[in-house]
Amino acid sequence: MFTSTNPFTQEKIADYAAHTPEEISQKLEQGHQAYRRLLDIPLAQRRTWMEQVAASLKNNVAQHAALITQEMGKTLKEANAEVLKCADAALYYATHITDILQAKPVAADAYKSYIAYEPKGIILAIMPWNFPYWQVFRFAIPNILAGNTGLLKHAANVSGCALAIEKVFVDAGFPAGTFQSVLVSSKDIEPIIADPRVQGVTLTGSTPAGKSVAALAGKYIKKTVLELGGSDPFIVLKDADITAAAKTAVQGRMQNAGQSCIAAKRWIVEAPVVAEFTAAVKTLLLELKQGDPTADSTRMGPMARPDLAADLARQLQDTISQGATLELGGTHEGCNFAPTLLSGVTNKMTAFKEETFGPLAVIITAADEQEAIALANETEFGLGAAIWTSDLDKAARLATQIESGNVFINAMVRSDARLPFGGVKQSGYGRELSLEGTHEFLNIKTVYIQ
Ligand code: NAP
Repeated sequence: MFTSTNPFTQEKIADYAAHTPEEISQKLEQGHQAYRRLLDIPLAQRRTWMEQVAASLKNNVAQHAALITQEMGKTLKEANAEVLKCADAALYYATHITDILQAKPVAADAYKSYIAYEPKGIILAIMPWNFPYWQVFRFAIPNILAGNTGLLKHAANVSGCALAIEKVFVDAGFPAGTFQSVLVSSKDIEPIIADPRVQGVTLTGSTPAGKSVAALAGKYIKKTVLELGGSDPFIVLKDADITAAAKTAVQGRMQNAGQSCIAAKRWIVEAPVVAEFTAAVKTLLLELKQGDPTADSTRMGPMARPDLAADLARQLQDTISQGATLELGGTHEGCNFAPTLLSGVTNKMTAFKEETFGPLAVIITAADEQEAIALANETEFGLGAAIWTSDLDKAARLATQIESGNVFINAMVRSDARLPFGGVKQSGYGRELSLEGTHEFLNIKTVYIQ
């Protein structure tokens, strides 16, 4: 049984029964049959159905957004933007998939030799609740256009979203089984991974979940893509536009109530501008109203679950007891966590060493740019990073020194449908989106004609 609970009111929304082993077996067979059917369906038809997915999301954006807000607590404004981002991605890939799947000629000794990109079958997607639509669609759109089918095991607290997404694909006209949600507990995942009809596993979530799923996938020789945790540095150098940097730092840390893998989790600021930056972010944080996510005036909703808020409170208290200064916030009740700012954080403290998944901003002082880069890399994670400076040549040089899958200069790190997304180190491996991400679960087939 999976229960969805409204994080803001703590009222139960609905119970969802777990699928039985028989139902799961039927879904696997349906997913496999859909894959076989898609092999005979022209790409032009799949593109048309994907355009229908986009239209359906746009036409029903208010219902989808309300469901997201109810189940995981982000503001309605954020939820609306998330649904529309999925619709835009569906249109983008409907337009570009032909180029992405184009066979690539490679000169060899043959009369003709080339690389073909072919689908493999069902891909199992294990997804988190924090962007309950976007994380799913960014996997599903390119894969389904390429001819794979998707089986989603969503996070336990967003079963309503999982079923609503399945309906979007059915209503768009895709063959039954092209995209299905399976309501199953994490501990019952092994038989699905083991099933020969499942050809790959993508997981977005925490590093421990990634380790566990990758070990199982390895046991059955299934390819994995892992999009895991992060502790992104947000570096502000002394020649940066401090007003713009402060605004983006606050947005990058506090959007989605701080629950983003690529949130700006460690603000690393060059010593000469620490005071100016601290004053600027404090002003902005004071304006950030936290509360009812359905109210127009609310800029930050609750966290998704009380246990997540309690965990963040523990990290906050640890960091204060280690010597950091509480500048703002620091209180929480249930899932409602006030936007919080700590200054004087060092690399020895909990909020530097652990991923913080909530509205906790921390300021770390760096003596100079080289120390800033060293601090940025002093983490087991390597997902995103931002560098703020007015010297773009310096920025490009420093970008090469950052150990991460994404570096954004004078901008907020975000996942963009047109660009590859993924991490290095304990943030995972493989990519989603773009040509690189679409090819992850395809059979990259060498064809040699003599
Ligand atoms: P989580 O607890 O790891 O859960 C993510 C998904 O994995 C859920 O569907 C969960 O199912 C499932 N899961 C957990 N342990 C599993 C196991 N042993 N076997 C099979 N499935 C398992 O992560 P979360 O708390 O929902 O999300 C926060 C984390 O995700 C953060 O670390 C964040 O940085 C990361 N994240 C990364 C990205 C990225 O693109 N790199 C994007 C978003 C979030 P249940 O709900 O049933 O436990």
